[in-house]
Amino acid sequence: VTDWQGKNVTVAGLGVSGVPAARVLNGLGAKVTVVNDGDDERARAQAAELEALGVAVRLGDGDTLPDGTELIVTAPGWKPDKPLFHAAERAGVPVWGDVELAWRLRGRDGREAAPWLAVTGTNGKTTTVQMLASILRAAGLRTAAVGNIGVSLLDAVLGEERYDVLAVELSSYQLHWAPSLRAHSAAVLNLAPDHLDWHGSMEAYAADKGRVYEGNRVACVYNAADRATEDLVRAADVEEGCRAVGFTLGTPGLSQLGVVDGILVDRAFVEDRQHNAQELAEVSDIGSSVAHHHPSEEGASRPRSVAPHNIANALAAAALARAYGVPAKAVRDGLRAFTPDAHRIAHVADVDGVAYVDDSKATNTHAAEASLAAYESIVWIAGGLAKGATFDELAAGAAKRLRGVVLIGADRALIRDALARHAPEVPVVDLDRTDTGAMLQAVQEARRLARPGDTVLLAPACASMDMFANYNRRGEAFARAVAELGA
Ligand code: ADP
Repeated sequence: VTDWQGKNVTVAGLGVSGVPAARVLNGLGAKVTVVNDGDDERARAQAAELEALGVAVRLGDGDTLPDGTELIVTAPGWKPDKPLFHAAERAGVPVWGDVELAWRLRGRDGREAAPWLAVTGTNGKTTTVQMLASILRAAGLRTAAVGNIGVSLLDAVLGEERYDVLAVELSSYQLHWAPSLRAHSAAVLNLAPDHLDWHGSMEAYAADKGRVYEGNRVACVYNAADRATEDLVRAADVEEGCRAVGFTLGTPGLSQLGVVDGILVDRAFVEDRQHNAQELAEVSDIGSSVAHHHPSEEGASRPRSVAPHNIANALAAAALARAYGVPAKAVRDGLRAFTPDAHRIAHVADVDGVAYVDDSKATNTHAAEASLAAYESIVWIAGGLAKGATFDELAAGAAKRLRGVVLIGADRALIRDALARHAPEVPVVDLDRTDTGAMLQAVQEARRLARPGDTVLLAPACASMDMFANYNRRGEAFARAVAELGA
């Protein structure tokens, strides 16, 4: 589409993607109608704002296709089996997501469009795009971490700011609705069951993630420890000369990045033909500018450790940056300068020789598995909304590292039963509470179970909405409770 003047576009869903999409399309001269399921106060306020610009809004009916619709631009979360999309299919109306719209509009103002380095996967997306942006910045490139991370791609593509290259986080939903997206290079970090209620099946979920590789020009980055990601590379239709590049926590093979004696090594993009490997950075460089050595009980320093999954994320970020041609030194500087977001393995405090770590962002079992693997002796605080997950694998894998477990939240019985099956020796305190105040009691119980040198780890393996507005609030409640211990 090049001419938007008078084009009938239906925007499906108000909210973080719908409102900016409606504004932009309206600004391009399209005739925009927004349809929205909800009809609450917030929707009405957003509707009033758009209506003032001349956009039509239909609240409380997200399933009737407005007459004359030529294109639907949907919020990524809208399920493909919604009646609106069946109606669109019957009428031959194409459906784009917000990412597709941004992709099609890039370079519209005549300037050269910045290429996209794309990241998807079940877990680690946000961390990886932030590492990537930090590396690109260290190389002197104008860049931003955008997309699912909460920074609008439309803004990045159409705004005032100029970029050389974008670090783009994409969710499986966004990829589902982005058929023509073609990244410079892309990474699928890992694949574990999540959001299956939306996609319908694991196969459909994987296929949507795999779209990120379609049409890649330089590199498809996969996780050598996760066969499914490599299979997606094989299935993808890419530009000639595009390479499959793996990352591994072990010694890298040809065309891989990996770790040798605590050093991140690149065997895919080697600068010097005399050598078959390029050293990039030390593992301890990752996030080292904010590293604090935790004082232990005796006041001595406990060495800072980098969680294995963050080494994997750093390797994936490095692979994409190297595919873009970034020198080794910028990888090191960028990884040093990287600061992790809150509630992702955040060290909150040490109390009586016990470290308290907030990984409230571990909202599914795959994420919790990664953070449980990062510590030796753990008092684990878990529970919340299970979203249909099972906990047997998680409990069995963590059993030998658990000092004890404190359970909170609506679906805690699922975790309790899995622990009874796979870790019968581990003491479990089942708080039987779903009120917000339960976190304080959970932390107090955890303190009772912990011994000096242990880590009390909030890694709920569940969503937070049964008890908190979101995972941020849950993490903040944890931090407050820990602060009270010290007081
Ligand atoms: P996403 O954006 O995909 O949700 P984040 O970077 O925000 O990912 O990390 C979310 C949580 O997932 C982290 O708190 C951590 O528990 C876990 N995690 C991060 N990276 C990985 C990884 N590579 N593999 C498994 N789990 C991970």
